[in-house]
Amino acid sequence: MKTHQFEAIVVGAGGAGLMAALYATKGGAKTAVISKLYPTRSHTGTAQGGIGAALGNLDEDNPLWHAFDTVKGGDYLADQNAAKVLAENAIDAVIELEHMGLPFDRTDEGKISQRRFGGHTSNFGEKPVRRACHAADRTGHMILQTLYQQCIKHNVTFYDEFHVVDMIMNNGKFAGVIALELGTGEFHVFHAKAALFATGGWGRVWNVTSNAHSLTGDGAAVVYRRGIPLQDMEFYQFHPTGIYKMGILITEGVRGEGGVLINGRGERFMEKYAPKIKDLASRDVVSRAIYLEIREGRGVKGKDYVYLDVTPQTVNRYLAEAGESRRIDAETIEKKLPDILDFCRTYLGVDPVKEPMPIQPTAHYAMGGIPTNVDAEVVIDENWTVLPGLYAAGEVACVSCHGANRLGTNSLVDLVVFGRRGGMAMADYVKRADYAPLPASPTAEIEGEMNRIRAGKGKTRPVELRKIMQQVMMDHVSVFREAKGMQQALDTVRELKARYQTDLTIDDKGFQFNTDLLEAWELGALLDMAETTAVSALNRKESRGAHSREDAKERDDVSWMVHTLVSRPAGTPPYPQGSPELQLNTKKKVDLSLAEQDARFVPKVRTY
Ligand SMILES: Cc1cc2nc3c(=O)[nH]c(=O)nc-3n(C[C@H](O)[C@H](O)[C@H](O)COP(=O)(O)OP(=O)(O)OC[C@H]3O[C@@H](n4cnc5c(N)ncnc54)[C@H](O)[C@@H]3O)c2cc1C
Repeated sequence: MKTHQFEAIVVGAGGAGLMAALYATKGGAKTAVISKLYPTRSHTGTAQGGIGAALGNLDEDNPLWHAFDTVKGGDYLADQNAAKVLAENAIDAVIELEHMGLPFDRTDEGKISQRRFGGHTSNFGEKPVRRACHAADRTGHMILQTLYQQCIKHNVTFYDEFHVVDMIMNNGKFAGVIALELGTGEFHVFHAKAALFATGGWGRVWNVTSNAHSLTGDGAAVVYRRGIPLQDMEFYQFHPTGIYKMGILITEGVRGEGGVLINGRGERFMEKYAPKIKDLASRDVVSRAIYLEIREGRGVKGKDYVYLDVTPQTVNRYLAEAGESRRIDAETIEKKLPDILDFCRTYLGVDPVKEPMPIQPTAHYAMGGIPTNVDAEVVIDENWTVLPGLYAAGEVACVSCHGANRLGTNSLVDLVVFGRRGGMAMADYVKRADYAPLPASPTAEIEGEMNRIRAGKGKTRPVELRKIMQQVMMDHVSVFREAKGMQQALDTVRELKARYQTDLTIDDKGFQFNTDLLEAWELGALLDMAETTAVSALNRKESRGAHSREDAKERDDVSWMVHTLVSRPAGTPPYPQGSPELQLNTKKKVDLSLAEQDARFVPKVRTY
């Protein structure tokens, strides 16, 4: 075991982690980033469509309209002050990225180019607005590279391929994190005054997902096992357009450029579900529409997919019908969506310039996660009590600015806005805080758990359990839900947790580069994510945003304008041992501060 001391630790090197590390370092804190992946392999690098900011470069825009769209898109579960902070801070965050050298696409005048995206409108829902700033369809890649270069320039210390597996607490105060070094299998204790978790999402809970293999909810699981509640876990977003069966994402930017969804009868069906905004309705609405079309027998060739059509022929026909003067051609598509074309040609043998793409909804984004306030400080109850020294930002956090459903382009904003605020807050905190002492043998529990997995003499390999979990969650806790199915999913996940304890075996018993061991550990994290999602979903007896119940179809603002906090009963051991009844707390009220000033922010039933 090795011990290191840093004032601030950042766990995760995606957009949120890098932004936080940059600002903590600039603020004078001695900072290290720990990442299980080489930083530029983080999932942020795959983000395609864009980052939203009301710059108004092409259409008139206003951050308050952006905040309104964020709140409405989140089906009014968003904390409205957080949505306002997101929208207002987005503008200078994007300009800051530009000044760092991020190669955004440009307008003819040389300003940052912007495009339409689902749910983004001008003048409080009047018409679609061009708000998504983009670098072709590689926006996330450019953000990640830019931020990594900045971190190197500012001498941030990196521990790459170090897998954080536990957090150390001392009397209710944060004291450090424990990581396993992939190359050696050795444990490292990072003693710190503060840590910010930015470990990303957990799409791998479901079997069709846009998420990378590494997205297993580690950070959320680590803090949850040490007693921190998770917030709004029932809200998991399915992106409407994943490549059929593979789940690989086809950005909403395709529809932003004019692409339309077509059912098996050749009809543009979104007109029925969202007459005003059509294919650019928010993701929950579009994913449900696709499921309904398929369920009613209008999938393509009777199968469970529909088409996304961006061929100039189709797009121009609809543009003309809508009375728009704009037209697109093959060259524009090649220029604006090069990676999408590449994916489809490579993985499907389909050329989107000439033919439509087969798509289905794909598990995409966690709205829930570690509860924080707008300074990325972790809060542990309905009174917003801050846990000293602990921070979270990015997809793993729940601020909650996205409420029950995130709008496209708002995650990248979330990373840079709340990553930056978290970095600054940590730099400030470490100036006045002391190191909490480490306990006598901080690694004893996690070493015990790793040894248990390594020595497991059961019959089942982790992949078998993972597949069962992914299927049952896809079948019962995805776009549409009802009590019986969710209960079945929960029972199955609990059974899998028991087997994880008693019946596991792995092939590699060694220490160096033991990815077998770490994948087994990641499965434990996934099972915790699946269980907390199912428990929270069963508990919420209404439909809102991404949580759509067939046995409770209406949104219920009287009883359910509250966040869900789910936690393990105090005193249960940190590793997935058995399944104690989880504790639910629904006393945390949604912050409606904008609604108090402006009637347009008062919850209204959706009309698109
Ligand atoms: C295909 C795709 C396209 C997307 N497109 C867009 C888009 O156009 N616009 C938009 O706004 N959003 C988009 N999103 C969503 C957005 O990209 C993600 O929500 C966001 O990038 C998450 O960033 P993050 O910094 O929170 O984490 P990530 O970028 O996922 O990084 C997680 C980091 O945590 C580290 N980590 C994880 N576990 C551990 C551990 N146990 N120990 C140490 N390190 C760990 C990893 O090494 C990694 O560095 C897209 C998502 C996907 C999957």
